[in-house]
Amino acid sequence: MKPSVVAIKQQDIFKFNARAKKIPGAVNMTVGEPNFHTPEHIKQAAIRAIEDDHTHYTVPEGNHKLLVAVANYLHDKYDLNYDPETQIVATTGVTEGVFSAFNAILQDGDEVLIPSPAFTIYGPDADFNGASPVYLDTSKTDFKVTPDVLAEVLRTNPRIKIFLLNFPSNPTGVSYTEDELRALADILKDHDIFVISDEIYSELTYNFKHVSFGNILPEQTILLNGLSKSHAMTGWRFGVVCGPAEVISQINKIHELATTSITSITQYAALEAYTNGYDDPKAMQVQYQERRDALYAGLHGMGFECPTPDGAFYLFAKIPEGYEQDDVKFANDLLEEEHLAILPGSFFGIGGEGHLRFSYAASMDSINKCISKLQSFLVNQKKL
Ligand code: PLP
Repeated sequence: MKPSVVAIKQQDIFKFNARAKKIPGAVNMTVGEPNFHTPEHIKQAAIRAIEDDHTHYTVPEGNHKLLVAVANYLHDKYDLNYDPETQIVATTGVTEGVFSAFNAILQDGDEVLIPSPAFTIYGPDADFNGASPVYLDTSKTDFKVTPDVLAEVLRTNPRIKIFLLNFPSNPTGVSYTEDELRALADILKDHDIFVISDEIYSELTYNFKHVSFGNILPEQTILLNGLSKSHAMTGWRFGVVCGPAEVISQINKIHELATTSITSITQYAALEAYTNGYDDPKAMQVQYQERRDALYAGLHGMGFECPTPDGAFYLFAKIPEGYEQDDVKFANDLLEEEHLAILPGSFFGIGGEGHLRFSYAASMDSINKCISKLQSFLVNQKKL
């Protein structure tokens, strides 16, 4: 019998969104996907794939030409060196990558260390694979894991088999510098654990270059990346899992059992993205940065404290003193009274209490409306 899904916070997010959708004209700042469309040249490559009858089963890991293109892209962008023959599998999004990697590595009774607040699938994925999530509250350390805390947690929890790292982070938008990553690697190298590094937002960083953990500790890192965020391709369901050949071979077996392979047409779209789409993320990144700056300034003006997001398209802000501190009540009242949908921080687990997660994968118009609705909500709360 598998663990109950009741604990999955994702259900709370779906329910909250369903309520927001029923309110005509509500401004929605909850959405975790780009509000851009897939670039035209990628769509055309998929159309050509259909016309050329590339509509049959493929090998489980994905077509060789695609995996070569992925390896080249990761090398050119992040200086990574993965062998397309043995070290890369194309998965049905990073979502499947997390599940297949956990399934390949974890045994009953193992533990998965998850810095929290966190993207909602990691904990349930650990549960479903017989392991227990161990959540590490990062709210007192700028939403980052520090080497001291990591060393202590690993020393006292010998059953941890996976350390889940996600940067730039959903839900906080914070990332790690190369020095910070090296300091974590220094601790991790002495432990028999894998780092699963979810770097799906690697192309959406602001003011600094993303450094992959696959570069820092390659022998222990399973890198997850994909096209959902960088190329506005959420519905195509494309991700990659890269790492040491032995573990990738295991992950590919799980992946084959679950899926046979990813969709052949998506593979042709991804081949185009990884071959001719190097610059596609840039135009979107520039717009996200403008939106981030506008939202950050507006929120600061109202007394919200938040780390300046280094990447992704999220801003994780602390509700100012003097207002309702229960984030779920705050978000529910905001939705009812101002028709503004923002997710409560506690939907993302320990450390998220008293915070709100804003997604700025929304138009500038929505961001401006969000700021003025929030202002009016705070003024009305003050009067109570
Ligand atoms: N990882 C993180 C941190 C995410 O925020 C998301 C989606 O919001 C995913 C993975 C899912 O990625 P994919 O669309 O590739 O399954």
